[in-house]
Amino acid sequence: MIPVVESENGTSKILRKVYYNNLKDFLMTDLFEGYIHGHYLWRCDICDRYFFMTTARNQLYCSTVNKKYGVPCSYIAKHPEVTKRKMKKQRKSDSLYYVLWKNRYDSIRKNKSLSKYSANVSAKAKELIDYYFNLANVDFDYAENQYEKDMELSKIYEEAMKD
Ligand SMILES: [Zn+2]
Repeated sequence: MIPVVESENGTSKILRKVYYNNLKDFLMTDLFEGYIHGHYLWRCDICDRYFFMTTARNQLYCSTVNKKYGVPCSYIAKHPEVTKRKMKKQRKSDSLYYVLWKNRYDSIRKNKSLSKYSANVSAKAKELIDYYFNLANVDFDYAENQYEKDMELSKIYEEAMKD
């Protein structure tokens, strides 16, 4: 491993330059780099490809678009009719994004019972959190960058009270 100094707009950065003797060495290094960053290698049950999952919580299927069906494998798992194959069904509570969903769901129910919001607004709010939750489960970019923002309770009510 050779440290390399690169200058960019007057600032210098130290980077690593790594040479590999063969592809296998590179793949092994990449794998361990993944582990270092807390990712686990897992084999997708649907497309049989390996992918890094970000937690150990039952993420059985990858989020790569499955070329055969044109949707991510994680989506196929939830909608097995896409392939007509029977999949192990993932339970809602298995999802990484469930805790936040449950938290918002409880708040919406509580606010409804306290009559803070009408039944109509509450139903719309519930629809919104379901929508965001489902999206987070099939779209990793969304899950990582937007899900928590969209799940902000004040934003949800704001959206639910439109029109
Ligand atoms: Zn897959």
